[in-house]
Amino acid sequence: MIINSRCRICQSDKLHKVIDLGSQPPANAFLRPDQLDQPEERFPLEMHVCGDCNLAQLIHVVDKEDLFSDYIYYTSGIPKVSPYWQGYADQVAEQCLHDANDFVVEVGSNDGLLLWSFKEKGFRTLGVDPAKNIAPIAESRGVRTVVDFFGEKVATDIVHQDGKAKLIIGNNVIAHINDHHDLCRGIKALLADDGTFVLEAPYLVDMIEHVTFDTIYHEHLSFLAVRPLIKLFEQFGLEVFDVHIVPAQGQSIRVFVGHAGAHEVKPSVQACVAKELELGLDKIETYMELAKKVEHCKNATLDILHGLKSSGERIAGYGASAKGMTVLNYYHIGSDMLDFVMDELPSKEGLFTPGTHIPLASKAYAEEHRPTSYLLLVWNYLPLVLAKEQAFLAAGGKFILPTGVVVDAQGVHEAEYTEEEKVPA
Ligand SMILES: [Zn+2]
Repeated sequence: MIINSRCRICQSDKLHKVIDLGSQPPANAFLRPDQLDQPEERFPLEMHVCGDCNLAQLIHVVDKEDLFSDYIYYTSGIPKVSPYWQGYADQVAEQCLHDANDFVVEVGSNDGLLLWSFKEKGFRTLGVDPAKNIAPIAESRGVRTVVDFFGEKVATDIVHQDGKAKLIIGNNVIAHINDHHDLCRGIKALLADDGTFVLEAPYLVDMIEHVTFDTIYHEHLSFLAVRPLIKLFEQFGLEVFDVHIVPAQGQSIRVFVGHAGAHEVKPSVQACVAKELELGLDKIETYMELAKKVEHCKNATLDILHGLKSSGERIAGYGASAKGMTVLNYYHIGSDMLDFVMDELPSKEGLFTPGTHIPLASKAYAEEHRPTSYLLLVWNYLPLVLAKEQAFLAAGGKFILPTGVVVDAQGVHEAEYTEEEKVPA
């Protein structure tokens, strides 16, 4: 682990600690049964905010080889592009690619599915991804993949071999990269004169508005907003020229970047900047207020869970997401509270949650040992889950959200606070 003493965008040393989630193991470090007695590595999980460019960031950086080289997460699971990413490919191709021979590079290309849909449209493609266990899947789809971390060196090698890229894609990957400057030097080197770098990432605004603090885990090193990104790119002769707000993982930003002056800057960029200032993202107090809300979520949720447990209810977790591991570890919820955590991904079967050691169980097991309540660890998918679990709700089942909200067949019930405890609006 390394500790950054300076902001990864502007190098300022004015880093303010705003949220402290304690010391946690990496969220995807699920354990085999034989590992349960062994000591687990834990690292501080703290969000800091830069007093100068206002980037919200982790300063404790776990070695990326430990986190990503044997990555358990697969984008697709099933060999089919989801409607969301098919729509993405159609829209981005239409906006950024105009020549049949255009070259598309994806940073963090995973199993190559998204690039495959660009390949289907006839474009030349190349993926870059450090996960050596997943790259062969991409290759089997005919998507060439460089197994490495993207940066200036890899970018220069690609330019020598294949020329410059008309489109560089980085979906949900920029926040995973510690060295933003090396990333930008790579983009600058690889991008064609009129080319576009399109990045997509969860929007910090969503965390502020909906208290989605569980997007904080060691793999997410930065929590992105448009203002700090503008600062980042302008240091390298690059320019943010368009931003779309898209409904992915709550709210995400899709940011379009080109060489400075190469594209007309759309009003969407200033609109985001204005919104971020209106929300107070330039003030440390805004983040301190968020920290208070996070603390309230913890207390309210634990109150509900203890109440249910003492009245003899059986509770389980729903969805072993990385976000969920932040919740379990920060709330100190273990196997004395949850009988199991249900997860549908077969590659997680037989494993235990990192830090809290709760067994994972398949959907079939969960059906057979149905609890009376679920702690919903994938509450970003609430509408989908409710639609899927109508029978559970109809039988009197409840979902408890990590924000201290209970959902049952009758509807949504907020936790009650005394006037004093009330979360500031
Ligand atoms: Zn900064």
